[in-house]
Amino acid sequence: MDSTNLVNVGMSFPMSYRISVDKAIGITTTVPIEIVYAAGYVPIDLNNIFICNDEPDVLVDYAEIKGLPRNTCAWIKGIYSATKRTGIKRIIGVVQGDCSNNQALIEVLQSEGVEAIPFSYPHDRNKDALYKQLDFLSNTLGTNLDKAHEMKFVLDNVRKTVHEIDRLTWEENKVTGEENHIWNVSTSDLMGDYELFEAKALEFLEEARKRPVLDPEVRLGYIGVPPICCNLYSFLGELNVHVVFNEVQRQFSMPYKTDTLADQYICYTYPFDMLYHIDDIKKQIEKRRINGIIHYVQNFCHRQIYDRLIRKYIDIPILTLDCDRPGQLSGSMRTRIEAFVEMLKNIKC
Ligand code: SF4
Repeated sequence: MDSTNLVNVGMSFPMSYRISVDKAIGITTTVPIEIVYAAGYVPIDLNNIFICNDEPDVLVDYAEIKGLPRNTCAWIKGIYSATKRTGIKRIIGVVQGDCSNNQALIEVLQSEGVEAIPFSYPHDRNKDALYKQLDFLSNTLGTNLDKAHEMKFVLDNVRKTVHEIDRLTWEENKVTGEENHIWNVSTSDLMGDYELFEAKALEFLEEARKRPVLDPEVRLGYIGVPPICCNLYSFLGELNVHVVFNEVQRQFSMPYKTDTLADQYICYTYPFDMLYHIDDIKKQIEKRRINGIIHYVQNFCHRQIYDRLIRKYIDIPILTLDCDRPGQLSGSMRTRIEAFVEMLKNIKC
């Protein structure tokens, strides 16, 4: 039986290549990929496989035909179909620190023959508990934490390139918000080939440094899970808005300097409580001189509830945008964004 499968990997540059299904480990959210690489496996972010597909909407339809409910988050349905399409047989299932929809999806996939290795981010951000999880994952994949730490220092160097792309976005205004989004979101798996990823990122940096400086009327922050709609950033660009902060995507790039894997994944905000996110967001609003925030919420996602806390603790203008399926922004979304941007431009005058 053929154990390879052609898939589109990553978002940073169009490419597709054969991955060995035996070597691939699917991930549904950011996990310690240092361990996966150290064990000789290839991490593949199933979210990226889904959203980079030529017809992501068809993947959502496919999952619904297979029985996933209409009123469930479309990312979950996309991940289900991406797993099926790639033929990936092993995934790391985050059972604490992601979402209950994902937990249920893992059980569905298990019932269809996919092996799921459980991984938890401890709710209380306890470092010892996280260390045990890292140790368990290393042992399960047949490696150890010493080797994973060596890999951390290799990947720290790769991620540094993306941190510089981020700096060129907000400090030098040379990288667009969409490019920033794509490079940061791709760090979740480093496209299954961290050496190639680094080479492409360095190539991009060299080109970006030579660009003229953007002159936006509004500096915007984007918070919440990555958007499922495809033209949000280009539409904002048409309105002369520069997205200088992509909150969750930046977290995927592990933006803090740390010495150990346990420290790195305790600092990472995504799996932890919203007040921890808000602390990071407030610092970045100040540092990046952000005029307003788009809080993106995915339909049928529990994270919609956090909008209340965001509005309570963040004191600059916020537009909450919700979206269901992949595709273009709807007319009403475009109108709401235009009105919000107009209001921000007026405040600045
Ligand atoms: S958007 Fe929300 S419900 Fe959907 S996969 Fe992400 S966390 Fe889970």
